Amino acid sequence: MRKIIHCDCDCFYAAVEMRDQPALRGKPLAVGGRAETRGVIATCNYEARALGVHSAMSTARALRLCPQLILLPPDFRRYREASQQILTIYRDYTPLVEPLSLDEAYLDVSGVDRCQGSATLMAEEIRARIRAEVRITASAGIAPNKFLAKVASDWNKPDGQFVIRPPEVETFVAALPVGKIFGVGKVTAARLQKQGVHTCGDLRAWDLNRLTHEFGRFGATLYQLCRGMDERSVRPDRIRKSLSVETTYAHDLPDLAACHAELPALIAEFRRRFANLSAPRAVHNAVVKIKFADFTQTTAECVSVTPDEAVWRALLDDAYARQGKAVRLLGVGVRFAEAEAGPRETHRGGEQLDLFDAEGIILQR
Ligand SMILES: [Mg+2]
Repeated sequence: MRKIIHCDCDCFYAAVEMRDQPALRGKPLAVGGRAETRGVIATCNYEARALGVHSAMSTARALRLCPQLILLPPDFRRYREASQQILTIYRDYTPLVEPLSLDEAYLDVSGVDRCQGSATLMAEEIRARIRAEVRITASAGIAPNKFLAKVASDWNKPDGQFVIRPPEVETFVAALPVGKIFGVGKVTAARLQKQGVHTCGDLRAWDLNRLTHEFGRFGATLYQLCRGMDERSVRPDRIRKSLSVETTYAHDLPDLAACHAELPALIAEFRRRFANLSAPRAVHNAVVKIKFADFTQTTAECVSVTPDEAVWRALLDDAYARQGKAVRLLGVGVRFAEAEAGPRETHRGGEQLDLFDAEGIILQR
């Protein structure tokens, strides 16, 4: 039985800013791009969240909701420095640390004998050290696998932790809303709810055939996740091959003009995630993905080391022209340079789970 900890700092960029400028504490604060440049909110503190602001929201909208919002530009030098300090703390406990972004990581502490071998105590100690040495707070989830550890770290956020012990997995997952499964976004969750599926327990009534029929390859993943099963290992050496952001629309986009209109929001979200990568990466290709209303799928890509909206728009035009039908899903992203020359990654069972993040946005590798 494995012991996995998922550690996640609380409103990381905003926390670093409040640490360095204590006068900002207690006021609604966000880090992000300016409204005039169609910027988005990267992170905001809990005071801002209480007023309806959230990450990935356009800054213009955030300022309308909360005119007193203090907006700071990101300072990645300080965020990376804090991130490095935190990684050093993690590596005191185990070499099996897999960073997901600047402020999130999985730790496999199976067989580690610190804290009498208790992953719960290790998580408490790690969080106390982050508080003392980096002077920000983190939350943690402790569970037998990555999926549950990540769900658990969100359970008592901020500045809290939650443990799911092996005998508790069955009951915990049965009651878990399907929307908590990564890869199940709002549209998919709504579709499931229409069919009476609200929790992972409900979803277990669907056999593998039905899940595959409804969800394609992701169906097999869902079959496992709704039973609390996730065999993915914690991989300290994992190198992301690509990064992309995609959205499934509640209503199909009828034509190319409607697709163009969605492009800026996708690109803004892509840029937010790109900035938050655990290590800076060189881009090699720009990519656009389209899934049409009939579920046929196509991607277009070209070499581009600094893709901008015009590049993605041209790819969108190419990809759209292949079918010219209504569109249910759009994605934009990049492939990284090192992946072109690097060794091929081996794909083991369940590995495709890494394609998804907790918000249902697909992060392709
Ligand atoms: Mg975080």
